[in-house]
Amino acid sequence: MHTPDGRRDFLKQLAAVAGLWGMPQLTRPGADAGRPGFADGVGVASPVAAPRRLDAFTRLPLGDVRLGGRLGHAIDLCVRNRVMAQDGEHLVEPFRQRRETNCWSSEFWGKWFLSAVSAQRYTQDSTALAAVEQSARSLMATQSSDGYMGTYAPQNHLATWDVWGRKYTLLGLLAYHDLTGDRAALESARRLADHLLTEVGPGRASIVKNGAYRGMASSSILEPIVLLYNRTGDARYLAFAEHIVAQWETPDGPRLISKALAGVPVAERFPPPAKWFTWENGQKAYEMMSCYEGLLELYRVTGNPDHLAAVVKTYENIRDTEINVAGSGASMECWYGGAARQTVQARHMMETCVTMTWMKLGQNLLRLTGDPRIADDIERSAYNALLASMLPDGSSFAKYSPLAGHRALGEIQCDSGLNCCTANGPRGLLLLPETAVMTAADGVVVNLYTRSIATAALPGGGHARIEQETDYPVSSTVALRIMPDRSRAFALRLRIPAWSARSSVTVNGASVADVRPGEYARIERTWRAGDEVRLELDLRARVVRVPGARDRHVAVVRGPVVLARDSRLGGDVDEVASLRADAEGHVALESASTRPDSVWMAFSTPFEQGLHDAKGELFLTDYSSAGNAWNETSRFRVWLPQILDPSRNGGT
Ligand SMILES: [Zn+2]
Repeated sequence: MHTPDGRRDFLKQLAAVAGLWGMPQLTRPGADAGRPGFADGVGVASPVAAPRRLDAFTRLPLGDVRLGGRLGHAIDLCVRNRVMAQDGEHLVEPFRQRRETNCWSSEFWGKWFLSAVSAQRYTQDSTALAAVEQSARSLMATQSSDGYMGTYAPQNHLATWDVWGRKYTLLGLLAYHDLTGDRAALESARRLADHLLTEVGPGRASIVKNGAYRGMASSSILEPIVLLYNRTGDARYLAFAEHIVAQWETPDGPRLISKALAGVPVAERFPPPAKWFTWENGQKAYEMMSCYEGLLELYRVTGNPDHLAAVVKTYENIRDTEINVAGSGASMECWYGGAARQTVQARHMMETCVTMTWMKLGQNLLRLTGDPRIADDIERSAYNALLASMLPDGSSFAKYSPLAGHRALGEIQCDSGLNCCTANGPRGLLLLPETAVMTAADGVVVNLYTRSIATAALPGGGHARIEQETDYPVSSTVALRIMPDRSRAFALRLRIPAWSARSSVTVNGASVADVRPGEYARIERTWRAGDEVRLELDLRARVVRVPGARDRHVAVVRGPVVLARDSRLGGDVDEVASLRADAEGHVALESASTRPDSVWMAFSTPFEQGLHDAKGELFLTDYSSAGNAWNETSRFRVWLPQILDPSRNGGT
């Protein structure tokens, strides 16, 4: 397969630096092992109120994982050209000015800072550490004597995005405390929260009546409030968290528990608003999912089964009714029943904030439930919606990504130099290393396949390095070398994607039984250094349709990667076409030899041009590369229109 030279060089570097295949390892073995990790990709320095152990899986410290391949390369570019290229001071300035009336200048420091902390943890880079230390000090210096830390003018406190922004500031302070152990950051976080408690809560302002989207924006501060409780043990924060959730079920609240348990689809929870971006709109996707992330943190503390059930039911409803073939959803930033309507262009599809938050909520739920289908979802979102939204050099992200058309960046918001999605895209990428390999009570879990090295602490003591050598999903073979510090008995779980109808696993050449799609293949044995596991996945290209709809479009999906037509590869991307699928719905793909340098995968497949019975080759590229000239010269289309031909009994 075609491998751009830059990528090949990078892989050489990775192999040299990280010591693939038995050379010295990259990181200290399991240095942070055993720490429960809860906040945005950070571990907990010294949890006071340790949550119950309800998680099926635990993340590895970011510094103990190194990804190569398409995902790892994207992370490296994004860290260098977006995260570390940001002027942090510019994002602190509105906290000094405090002139905000209704924009969301309040969110940018926290979002960027969270990505910078994750980047530092991942790279262990001292320059990144200096940058986050400087920025944290600069931000903390803006705190008022009463504890307020935000961008809003005093007379506008609690309006629109004030509390939403305080959420990101609070998350940033906690992440900094977790990274460095700085007590001043934790104290600053406490003062921020204590000040909020003087403004909202019983006998004070309502958190659901203030702020945007039926209070979902403001009340998503639930997440850092619970994380603050975990770090301080202060019962007032747990009480406030319970208060927020109780407010959800009041007449003005977003009913995030009761409507979820009743199975009300996320797009139908409230009547369509007369004006779109207003308090009345209860379908705002990003803010809704942010609230459920907080609810999962509260569940970890209280074990309230209704809270977990509400998130599971909502997550599955979003997957079934909203998420499209590229692994994201929403139109105009709101749920709209998009899964069944995805072949039709909708306005402003797939906000990158929605993509990132869908992945982040999924990872949170994967840790709790150990459900491998969620890892399938994350993989699909990463390879398609998320990578498609990133500029090829990693320096910026699109605000919206259509399934047909051409790519474009979004506007600058609130004089920040950024928009919400530019700030969130890196956070989506940086959750991949800690999704790729996790630990369970009985061993190690591999969720994502990509060239990588991960060092996992083992439940019985010691650690094992898991080295993956593969160019999956370009090709179908994944070789994993298992390198325990000495012979160790533990279970190794390998995710078998639900789409992989034919899969096989061998250990040192011997076949493993019970390899089923949509489950983990669990291999329990005494592992010795150098044991080799080989996984073969089914990358036959599948022709898919919109589930349950009498719709005359098809898309082609190969493994986790959605394919698309791109005008640079030839042909009219909008023409009707018939693909030659076999009885099982697979189409034959040939690797296409010529393609633009920026295109990752390109294939050809035989087709019939529907209107004139002409036959020829139809060219397809991976969706993330489709349109990546980022102008109208590269038009693309995922859903291919099929001709209506009564004589063919509805066949493709
Ligand atoms: Zn956004």
